[in-house]
Amino acid sequence: MQNAYYPVLLSPIQIGAHALRNRVVMGSLHTRLENEPDAIPRLAAFYGARAQGGVGLIITGGTSPNFAGRVEDGAQVLDGVDKLAEHIPIVQAAHAGGAKIALQVLHTGLYAKHNEIVGPTAMRSPINPRLARELSSAEIEQTIEDYATCAALAQQAGYDGIEIMGSEGYLITQFTASRTNKRTDQWGGSFENRIRFPVEVVRRIRQRVGADLMLIFRISAIDLVEGGLTGDEINRLAIEIEKAGIDAINTGIGWHESTVPTIATSVPRGAFVFAATRIRQVVSVPVIASNRINMPDLAESIVASGQADMVSLARPFLADPDFVAKAASGRTDEINTCIACNQACLDMIFTHRVASCLVNPKACHETEFPDTPPRALRRIAVVGSGPAGLACATTAADRGHRVDLFEAGDQIGGQLNLARRIPGKEQEFSELLRYFDKRLKNSGVQVHLGVTAEAGQLAAAGYDRIVIATGIRPRRPDFPGIDHPKVVSYLDVILGRATVGERVAIIGTGGIAYDVAELLTEAGHGQQDVKEFLALWGVDPAISESGGLTRPQPEPHRRDVTLLQRSHAKPGARLGKSTGWIHRARLSGRGVKTVSGCTYDRVDDAGLHYTCDGKQHLLQADTVILCAGQDPDDRLAGALAGRGAQAELIGGARLASELDAMRAIDEGTRLAWSID
Ligand code: NAP
Ligand code: SF4
Repeated sequence: MQNAYYPVLLSPIQIGAHALRNRVVMGSLHTRLENEPDAIPRLAAFYGARAQGGVGLIITGGTSPNFAGRVEDGAQVLDGVDKLAEHIPIVQAAHAGGAKIALQVLHTGLYAKHNEIVGPTAMRSPINPRLARELSSAEIEQTIEDYATCAALAQQAGYDGIEIMGSEGYLITQFTASRTNKRTDQWGGSFENRIRFPVEVVRRIRQRVGADLMLIFRISAIDLVEGGLTGDEINRLAIEIEKAGIDAINTGIGWHESTVPTIATSVPRGAFVFAATRIRQVVSVPVIASNRINMPDLAESIVASGQADMVSLARPFLADPDFVAKAASGRTDEINTCIACNQACLDMIFTHRVASCLVNPKACHETEFPDTPPRALRRIAVVGSGPAGLACATTAADRGHRVDLFEAGDQIGGQLNLARRIPGKEQEFSELLRYFDKRLKNSGVQVHLGVTAEAGQLAAAGYDRIVIATGIRPRRPDFPGIDHPKVVSYLDVILGRATVGERVAIIGTGGIAYDVAELLTEAGHGQQDVKEFLALWGVDPAISESGGLTRPQPEPHRRDVTLLQRSHAKPGARLGKSTGWIHRARLSGRGVKTVSGCTYDRVDDAGLHYTCDGKQHLLQADTVILCAGQDPDDRLAGALAGRGAQAELIGGARLASELDAMRAIDEGTRLAWSID
C-alpha cells in the first residue's frame, strides 16, 4: 500500500534479484566498533536497531578483500571461511528487522593506515604519510580474485549483496584517475586501461556469485581533485560496469584528499545530487544519490522528481535509527536530524576512537542503554535547558520519571540558540531545537520558562534528584581597558545586542571566535544555496574538466577582522579535525587575519595594544570582542550545597573547558539513564 506521507520514497524497488521495502539506503559508516573486544554483539545491536527502524537496505562499514587493503590494523578483512562467524550475527540482526543488508568491500590502497600499503603506483597520498608499493601485474590479478572470493564469502554469510567501494579516492579510484595511476602496462595509460581494474572486479565477481547476490558499485560521481575523471569519463565507466553485471550504482562525492567540503554543515542539503542525476541519464540500473540528504522531504523530492531512484543516508542513521519509521507514520517532526557536524562520528574515527553521534550518544553504544525500566519512578528537577539539560530531562522523562525543567530565559536551547545564528548553521541547529521541543512535549516534561530556580525552593520541594545544567559564563580576561566601551562579549555580538564597527579585534581563536568571525564577515543573505556554494568552492556541475573543478568565485565579504591568541599553537587547531580546515579556508578567503603568541597590553580609544615577540603593536579596532572561553556557572550548586541539598552537575556547569554540545548531550543522557 502506498505510504500517505512519502509515497515514492517509501515505495518498494527491485535491485537485481532482491525486492527492497523502500528506497532508503543506510550508507556505509565506518564505526571502528570492529576494534572493540565485544565488537560482534555491538555491531549486531547497531545494525539491528536501524533495521527495526524501517530502512530498506543497510550497507555495512568497509571490509577489505585482502590483508593489504585493510583500513588499519584490527580492521575487518573477509578472506576466508574462518571469518564468517564475525558476519552472521550482523546479517541475522538486519534480517530480523526486515532490512536487506550488503557488505561493503573496500580496498583502501594509498589511504591505508598501516605499513604494508599498495597502490597502482608507488607514491604517497597527500593525506597519508606512508609510501605505497606499486602492485605488480600478478598482484593486480590476485587482488581481483580476492574481490571475487570476498563476494562469495559474503554470500555464504547470508548477505543479500555487496557494495564495491569505487569512490572517495580508495584503490579503485586510484586506478581510474591519472592523478594516481602512472602505470604504462595494460592497467594504466589510456582511459580504457585505467578502468580495466574496476570493470574486471565487477565481471569476475558476477561470474563467481551468479545472479542472486545484489551487486552495487559506489562510483565516484565527481572526484573533486585535479587529475580526476571528467563527466564523460564517469559516464563511460558507469556504462561499462553496468555491462559487466552491476545491479545498482551508488554515488560517492569527492576524494578524501579533496579541498572541497562535501558533507559538513555548511554544505547545503542535496548539493551533490546533480552528480547522481548525470549518471542516471546514461544507465538503466537504479542510481542512488548521496551526501547531505538528512530529512525525508528532501529525499522524497529527489526520488519523486526522478533525480535518482534511491537515496543513501549514512550519518542520519547514527542520529536516528527510527528515521524511516517516523517518516512512514507522519512523525517527521520527531526525527533527530543529523546536523552534519562530524564531531562525534568522523572526528572520533580520525582520532582512533569509536564513532557515535553528537545528537544521539546511544549510537554505536546501544548495548550500554538496555531497555530495562528504572526500579522506581523519581521526581527530578533539571535546571537549565541547554543541550545538557534538554538531553537529561527528556531521557529521564522517557524512562518514566516525573521531570520539572527550569529555564530562566524565555526559550529553551541555551547555547544552541547562539549556534543557530551563525551563517551556515541556522537550518541544522534549528532542527535540533525542533527535535528537543517535540520530545519535551511527547515525554511529558513540565517546562517552566522564565523561572529562575532558587536553591531554597528546590531544596524545599523534596525532589529525589536535582540536576544542575546551568551552563557557562563567558570568561572576562583581566587587562587594562577591559571596561572600555568598545570591548564587548561574544554573547552580545551573536545576539545582536552590540554594535560592531568595521575594524574588529577578536580575543581568542576557539570555535566561538571562528563562529563570530563568520557572522561578522558574511556579506550574503544567510544560508547559501547550492549554486552559490558550488561557485564558492570551484565545483563545475557539468564536470567538463578533470575532477569537476573550476576556478572558485571569490565570496563577497565585509569588515576587517583579526583573531588573536596568546599561545603559539596554530590558530583554530582545536576546531574539529574534519571541519576546521573549512572554517580556516573560508575566513582566510574573506581576508581574516590571525595573530599568535601575543600578550594583551590595553584597550583604549585607539584600539587594542598588544605585544608580540617583544614588539608592541596597535590594532586599530573599533570593536574588541571577547571570545576567551568560559567558566562554569555553578552558583546554584554552591547555594544548594550551602543548604545541605545534593545536586549533580552536568555540561558546562560541571566543566566549562572544552565544553561542546557533544559532551553536554552525552552527559545529560547518561546521567538520566543512570537514575533508577
Ligand atoms: P575555547 O575553544 O576554549 O577557546 C578559548 C580561546 O580564548 C582560546 O583561543 C584561548 O587562546 C583564549 N583564552 C582563554 N583564556 C583567555 C584569557 N584569560 N585571556 C585571553 N584569551 C584567553 O573556547 P570557545 O571558543 O569559547 O569554545 C567553547 C567550546 O565550544 C569549545 O569546546 C569549542 O570546541 C566549541 N565550539 C566549537 C565550534 C566549532 O567547531 N565550529 C564552534 C563553537 C563552539 P589563548 O589561551 O591562546 O589566548
Ligand atoms: Fe551527524 Fe554530527 Fe551525529 Fe555525525 S555527530 S551523525 S555529523 S549529528
